[in-house]
Amino acid sequence: FDMFVLAFVERIFRPSYKKDDIVLGKKLGEGAFGVVYRASLTKKPSSRDGEVVLKKATEYGAVEIWMNERVRRACANSCADFVHGFLENSGKKGSEYWLIWKFEGESTLADLLQNKEFPYNVEALILGEDQKMPKGLERENIIVQTVMRQLLFALDGLHSTGIVHRDFKPQNIIFSEDSRTFKIIDLGAAADLRVGINYIPKEFLLDPRYAAPEQYIMSTQTPSAPSAPVATALSPVLWQLNLPDRFDIYSAGLIFLQMAFPSLRSDSALIQFNRQLKRCDYDLIAWRKTVEPRASPDLRRGFELLDLDGGGGWELLTSMVRYKARQRTSAKAALAHPYFNKEGLLALSFMQ
Ligand code: ADP
Ligand code: MG
Repeated sequence: FDMFVLAFVERIFRPSYKKDDIVLGKKLGEGAFGVVYRASLTKKPSSRDGEVVLKKATEYGAVEIWMNERVRRACANSCADFVHGFLENSGKKGSEYWLIWKFEGESTLADLLQNKEFPYNVEALILGEDQKMPKGLERENIIVQTVMRQLLFALDGLHSTGIVHRDFKPQNIIFSEDSRTFKIIDLGAAADLRVGINYIPKEFLLDPRYAAPEQYIMSTQTPSAPSAPVATALSPVLWQLNLPDRFDIYSAGLIFLQMAFPSLRSDSALIQFNRQLKRCDYDLIAWRKTVEPRASPDLRRGFELLDLDGGGGWELLTSMVRYKARQRTSAKAALAHPYFNKEGLLALSFMQ
């Protein structure tokens, strides 16, 4: 039996839903390309309670359905659990794509980062409220390590499948209450390079706060979208040449930075950081030299956290946030970094 047949059979027998099976709840978000609601299913999926998230999307919904179908077969643990996607024709605005996921939980990493308690609020989620350990820099480092490991694990799954997310940011990372891990959401800007889906980069979709300096990923080398069979033949080579996965690694590095430095968690502080880093030619070590001598206690504490245990955190961070994509580490290599070898990590990440 081949994988293709198995995927086809799975698709036929998986329950599918239509408009009448969905009861809309409160609105969770509204972007330029769709609206997201909490919802419940009247026809309940076998082992679940029917609590879901519904996205009503414009034309890009087709790509997002493709990406989610692919992810659920190839790297299901990386992303929110996809239930079903279909074209709904009855809307006043013409047709829309409707996408349904399991409701994974209340909090995105953005919500958690904005809380003064971070990272202890995350520790409570991962371990359960009653198991909290004594506070302190070492403890904070262990929690940040655990989150970074989960993020890199999820990214490695996506990248190994041939998908680049391109909009990796705290708002698109959800804490899954069932698995007690962070999962990736919002594949609306993702590119599947192995089959050439969404081959033309949609630069205008990218979030400038988290985007790597190259931004365009492959557009200069591949000005037009090749047909799917050509892309299948070429893309592993293009992947090697262009290392498009390193775009997400840069974004993940900025998230790491925001976890280590409370003062860089606001939008305005991140935008200001990006300007400073650009002035340092994207050299994080040069940035550190300019800010550290007159650093606030908060900034100094962030460096102290990253310097723990021989500076593994700082070393990993500088290997992610680099100007040239090919000089950035991959998700797989980052997971093998000594930063994650500490015993302390195991206490928190046993569930991964
Ligand atoms: P948008 O295109 O509007 O950014 P997203 O897919 O990022 O759409 O979803 C918007 C918001 O909805 C997310 O930031 C998150 O708060 C919530 N959300 C999305 N998917 C889920 C899910 N599977 N479980 C719980 N909340 C979700
Ligand atoms: Mg989003």
